[in-house]
Amino acid sequence: MNFYDFTKEKLEKYFTDLGENKAKAEILYKAIYRNKKTLEEIAELSQKTKDKLLNDFSFSLPETIALQDGGDTAKALIGLKDKSKVETVLMRHKFGAGLCVSTQVGCAMNCAFCQSGKLKKRRDLTAGEMVSQVLVMARENPINHISVMGIGEPLDNFDNVKTFLEILSSPYGFAFGNRHITLSTCGVVPMIERLKEIDCGFNLAISLHAPNDEIRSRLMPVNKRWGINELMTAVREYSKSEKKRIAFEYILLDGINDGFEQADELTELIKGIDCFVNLIPYNQTESSDFKPSSRSDDFFRQLRSNGVNAIFRRKFGEGINAACGQLSSKYD
Ligand code: SAH
Repeated sequence: MNFYDFTKEKLEKYFTDLGENKAKAEILYKAIYRNKKTLEEIAELSQKTKDKLLNDFSFSLPETIALQDGGDTAKALIGLKDKSKVETVLMRHKFGAGLCVSTQVGCAMNCAFCQSGKLKKRRDLTAGEMVSQVLVMARENPINHISVMGIGEPLDNFDNVKTFLEILSSPYGFAFGNRHITLSTCGVVPMIERLKEIDCGFNLAISLHAPNDEIRSRLMPVNKRWGINELMTAVREYSKSEKKRIAFEYILLDGINDGFEQADELTELIKGIDCFVNLIPYNQTESSDFKPSSRSDDFFRQLRSNGVNAIFRRKFGEGINAACGQLSSKYD
């Protein structure tokens, strides 16, 4: 068993099934996740307990095959047990660092503007493999925000992502949660309702990128399965019942979705939802012909004058191909 797949509750059950004190789960969680210790370094556990744990669990972390550091951004290529590779990206802000975690090897969503989609989906990551990305990066860098926005579609791997968020948010462990986690989805509609099962106070971001079906279906094949109305109904309902402010992500693509008309259409679409619009400059990828919008400022001003709460996302990681949509699994 992989230790990092275990929620604290599951670990407690492991100990009680052995007839042992379940408080050991708390000791382990605090030592490993909060204090970044190794099993050997935990003074509060007997050698007998440690031997049993070592016998039952793997504590090994994946290997960092390559690390590129571009100053405010660092990108690690992580090699998993079956030789699959994923990337994870650290962004250093003034107020601390954020980590962008991958959820799948490749991605099945195939968005036209995104490099990760060109990889095709090879498999889902386990919760432990997502936790490992955090541990590997947290060894050197204090992290205070997790974005579930790396390679893969989190809602196409719901159960593992749910476990991952439970482990991340445990107050005995990393204690992320309450706004220190953001999950981004392209809109796997049936799973949006199930997000209610995860109650760690994470932020939800929706990759919208277009204000109508015509444009969105051209950009994002997922929209052909669940159209924009279905998506917005699910998001509206979720935001209301969970009392959550939603972030709508919108990549500005030159001549595609960046006109005044689209700004007005977007304004209508999100009316009445507690939300803001995160405008994302397009990051060039090898495999598509899109261009960054030349009208971003006009689009932004139009949204603002319509009363929409819009912001620009700061650009990170371009120099080392670590920006949104540029993650793959190879190093050039
Ligand atoms: N599958 C999830 C999370 C991964 S993508 C999702 O779709 O939300 C993370 C964000 O990067 C998404 O908003 C995605 O649309 C955006 N993105 C993808 N390619 C991009 C590019 N080339 N430039 C800018 N943002 C991009």
